[in-house]
Formats: sequence, structure tokens, C-alpha cells
Amino acid sequence: MNASRSAPPEQHLSSLDLELEAHLDALEAQGLRRSLRRVDRRSGAIIHIGASSYVDFASNDYLGLASDHRIAAAAVDALGANGTGSPASRLISGNHASHEELERCIASFKGTEAALLFTSGYAANLGAIPALVKKGDVVYTDKLNHASLIDGCRLSRAEVRIFPHRDIAALRQMLAADTGFRRKMIVVDSVFSMDGDLFPLDELAEVAEESGTWTYVDDAHATGVLGERGTGSIEHFGVDGRIDVVMGTLGKALGTSGAFIAGSKTLVEFLLNRARSFIFTTASPPAIAAATIEAIRIVQDEPWRRDKLRANAERLRSALSEFLPEHCLESSFSPHILPVVVGSSARVVQVGTELQNRGFIVGVVRPPTVPPGTSRLRISSSAAHTEEQVDGLARHLTQILRDTPVA
Ligand SMILES: *Cc1c(COP(=O)(O)O)cnc(C)c1O
Repeated sequence: MNASRSAPPEQHLSSLDLELEAHLDALEAQGLRRSLRRVDRRSGAIIHIGASSYVDFASNDYLGLASDHRIAAAAVDALGANGTGSPASRLISGNHASHEELERCIASFKGTEAALLFTSGYAANLGAIPALVKKGDVVYTDKLNHASLIDGCRLSRAEVRIFPHRDIAALRQMLAADTGFRRKMIVVDSVFSMDGDLFPLDELAEVAEESGTWTYVDDAHATGVLGERGTGSIEHFGVDGRIDVVMGTLGKALGTSGAFIAGSKTLVEFLLNRARSFIFTTASPPAIAAATIEAIRIVQDEPWRRDKLRANAERLRSALSEFLPEHCLESSFSPHILPVVVGSSARVVQVGTELQNRGFIVGVVRPPTVPPGTSRLRISSSAAHTEEQVDGLARHLTQILRDTPVA
């Protein structure tokens, strides 16, 4: 019996597992198989893994708030008072006072009549888009929109028209050609995180107003970052009151978790009744709402974080465009996300791994997230970085790209 205990269990792959293994092998062969990297502890821009530590240039913690002790303290207080869970959906018995307080706080921050919380940005897009447009309607979507917008559009069963990236002229033509639809809506990201560019929302508002089309903007990477006050892309482009629906996330610059849709009272009332990902899901913990209220206070009271973020990003951008101009995208001008185009999947993995060996973690982005042959490093700046860390990354990345032969 002892012998059989120490022998490895015999593997019997089920027909499901056999099928899936074949699929995974094919991904592996193309250099596209993904795996998780475990983080043991995080403090500011430093990630600890086992006995090693790395500077984090991969995360969306643009303002350095994800490990802010004041935000954590707000959560801890609320945990003490309310416990961990929300026991039901908002519409049953899960609607806590702190959810409503956070919604008022978001509406006031964004300058809208109202706001509605969702448990994630993915859930917000998956719920709100199908609530607003249906079969028989038409939705216009930028070619490089985030997966959650693409999925929300598909789920809506509206006609989906994909227009070339940031191409307002093409969009205008499509809008003019479509006459038979009752409802039309344009759906875009404000900041495209794989190219680091922005959608011109002033031009968007103009075409939408000309054609009587609704507008839906995903402000995930702009919330807390863009605009003088950090309220997002609406402020940045000066289009207050001209975009119908604005989705923003709380898990990026704000350092907590969840998402919101900000807009009119009527929009919020409607989504509360019709967005399935709002209705049929457990409310997020009240402690997260309490933490987010504190995060929004800090975003407003500490504008130096945005200044620091911009200065760091500018420092990195000018070093890389000097040393590695052929790897930089000319259109990239977001104040915080810098793509470095490397080429093949294998090469980008090699460069990412070598950077990690030297103490830096950056995003490694491959197809299908980006087109084949344009695999890239996605480098996120943060107010939590020091100048030495920024200079170190630029120096090591330049050395690696120039001197490491393709494996
Ligand atoms: C991150 C992101 C989302 C998803 O938000 P989560 O809260 O992480 O689910 C949606 N849209 C865009 C553009 C994003 O970058």
C-alpha cells in the first residue's frame, strides 16, 4: 500500500481535457499561451515575488493609490462596522448607504446628475450597452475598442458597424449611409491602452450632434488621470454635457475596484431597471465603496499626483524616443501609457523576461490583443515611480533591444 501511495496518480484525461490540451498545445506552439504570475506583496511601485522585488511598470495604478494607507484605513473601518459581504443584489437587500454616498460623490466629481455603480468595468459594458441598444438598432464601434465594449455590442444583438481606428471621416460616412435605424449609438474608448492614444471626443460630440446619434464613452484609463481636476476625458476635451453615457472604472487610477456609469438621472434610473449585470449580481462590499470615497477625495485634494505622473511619463517617453525611435508609435500621446512595439510574440516574451531578470515588470502584449507582428511592451507610468526607476527602465530596455539577439 505504501508503494502505491508514493506513486504519482495515473493520469486519465477525459475527452474534454484531451480536446483542451490540444488547444493549449497549439497556443504554446504559436507563443501565445498565457500563464499567471503570482505577486506575494505590493508596496507602492514595488512588487515582491518570493525573495525578489521588481519595479512595476505593468499595472494601471497611475496615481500610486492602490496601496495608499488612508484608502486601506477607510476600508478597514468600514469592514469593522459592516463586515465583508453584501448579502444580496442592490435591488434586493444589498443597497448600503455607502453605495449611495459613493454614487453621489462620483456624480459630483464627474459633474453629472447621477451615477450608478457596477461590480466591474467589464460588467458595466456588458450590461449597459445591451440595455440601451437592441435588435433593429445600430452601434458604431472603433476598431480598437476594448474587449468588454466589443462583447457588450455583440450581446446587444444590434447591428455592429466597426469603423477604422479614430477615423471620424469614415464614421461620418457610415452614419450618413444608415437611415433605417431607430436608435444609433457610437461606442468608443477614450484612451486606447494598447496604442496609448486618445479618441478625439470633441470631434465625436460634433458628428453625434449632427446626426442625432447617442454617444457612449469608456473612460477606464482616463478616470483620475486626464483633465486638470482628474475627472477624465470629458474634462480633458471640454465636452461637458455633450456625451450621453460615460463609463469609468475604480480599479485603475482610483486604486480600489468596480466601475460606474455617470449621466442623467433618467439614464441611471433606466439602467437600474434594465442592465442585467447590475440587476442579477451581488452588490460589491460596502468597504470598497467607503475606500473609493476616500480615493476620490485624494484624487481631488492631491493634484501633485497627476503632475508627477505626467513628469514621469514625459521623462520615459523622451528617453525612449531618443534611443529607440523605431519602436515608438508616433500617435501615442496619452500622459501615462507608452507602447513599445517589438515585433513577434517570441521576441516580446524574450524582452519582457529579460527586463524582469533585471528587476522591471512591464506588460507583454501579444495577439489577439494586438495585430500579429506588432507584439509590444505596454509600459504604464505611475506617480509612485522615482526618476531613478524611470531612468533605469529606459537604460535597460535600450540595452536589451539593441544588444540581445533574437532568440
Ligand atoms: C480595464 C478596462 C475595462 C474593464 O474594467 P474592469 O473594472 O477591470 O472590469 C473596461 N474597459 C476598458 C477600456 C478597460 O481598460
